[in-house]
Amino acid sequence: MLASLQRELDQRKADGLLRQRRLLDSPQAEHIVANQQPYLSFCSNDYLGLANHPDLIAAMQKAAGDSGVGSGASGLVTGHHRYHDELEQQLARFVELPAALLFSTGYMANIGVLGALVGRGDAIFADKLNHACLNDGGYFSHAEFHRYPHNDVAALEKLLQASTAKHKLIAADAVFSMDGDIAPIPEYLALCEKYDAYLYIDDAHGFGVLGEHGKGSLNHFKIKSPRIIMMATLGKAAGVAGSFVAGEQVVIDYLIQKAKSYVYSTPAPPALSATLSASVKLIEQGDHLRANLQALIQYLKANLKLNKWRLMDSDTTIQPLVVGDNLEALALSEYLQTCGILVPAIRPPTVPVGTARLRISLSATHTMDDMKKLVAAIHQAERELCA
Ligand SMILES: *Cc1c(COP(=O)(O)O)cnc(C)c1O
Repeated sequence: MLASLQRELDQRKADGLLRQRRLLDSPQAEHIVANQQPYLSFCSNDYLGLANHPDLIAAMQKAAGDSGVGSGASGLVTGHHRYHDELEQQLARFVELPAALLFSTGYMANIGVLGALVGRGDAIFADKLNHACLNDGGYFSHAEFHRYPHNDVAALEKLLQASTAKHKLIAADAVFSMDGDIAPIPEYLALCEKYDAYLYIDDAHGFGVLGEHGKGSLNHFKIKSPRIIMMATLGKAAGVAGSFVAGEQVVIDYLIQKAKSYVYSTPAPPALSATLSASVKLIEQGDHLRANLQALIQYLKANLKLNKWRLMDSDTTIQPLVVGDNLEALALSEYLQTCGILVPAIRPPTVPVGTARLRISLSATHTMDDMKKLVAAIHQAERELCA
């Protein structure tokens, strides 16, 4: 087995697909120290710049002082602390849904929720470009798993029409993590009503960024329905770690009984929940941060004028620059790195073959000066690499 693992790694490297980690020696921020070099970073999902916020650092230190550093047992034994409970209530109020449940990561939430809510005889309808953990959730559920072309409402309707499954669940990212575009959520909800289906929305990249006061993608579209269950991660715009699922009380009550990644897993430390309570307040008061993000997005779109590479059509913090070829995407990323700028090259299988790209990710703490540096370096890279 070891020899075959090595062969596969060697092949990945030859194909320009080997993933490598950078060693970070600074807090997550727009300026970081990675592999002992200073960089201007466009790599993180810390969209509001909260991961190193002094209020949150103080909140975590204080909460560790009065609640310790570990949860000690699963939530159903003795691990459900008042800080967890308060955060769940605060999150439910914030996203305007009846109840919420914390999970230790977004990945855990997606595999747990899909695994619990649907099973044999049921069907999941999933966007082809959904995050990997929604696919894994489908696998754990044992439900039929249908994938429809990206954002294709008509194709989805055909699948729903033809389905004889007992329970039907549409599962989609709200904001697509490698494309930055937004799912047609109101159209999906209309299909749910027409075909008696339910809607599971993964708002990993919308929560904190979209909607009034950063309430997320459902608020962005101003939609509400007992047919909707949402999940958002707390390690992206919220700047900390973890995730929550929100929906009808009966859904949350059911998940507490049946979501295995909740039931059989130790919750994140209570101090993390206390930190997140402070983070949700900053998100709610962060309209100035979201306004700055919008200005940065518009600046990038207006000023990047390239011949060969193109920005995908996105109005969110995720601004992918499509290069196409794996090695060329890698070369561009490496070129920017020599200019002191980090932007990750995203290659298959994370994105479809032939669409390797730079995933430029913006944070409210970037400045216009940072944007100017990025735009100038990409223009220079195109002149030099495509000459
Ligand atoms: C990051 C991400 C997740 C996983 O969340 P974690 O908290 O990082 O485990 C799930 N869904 C989407 C769309 C994501 O981008």
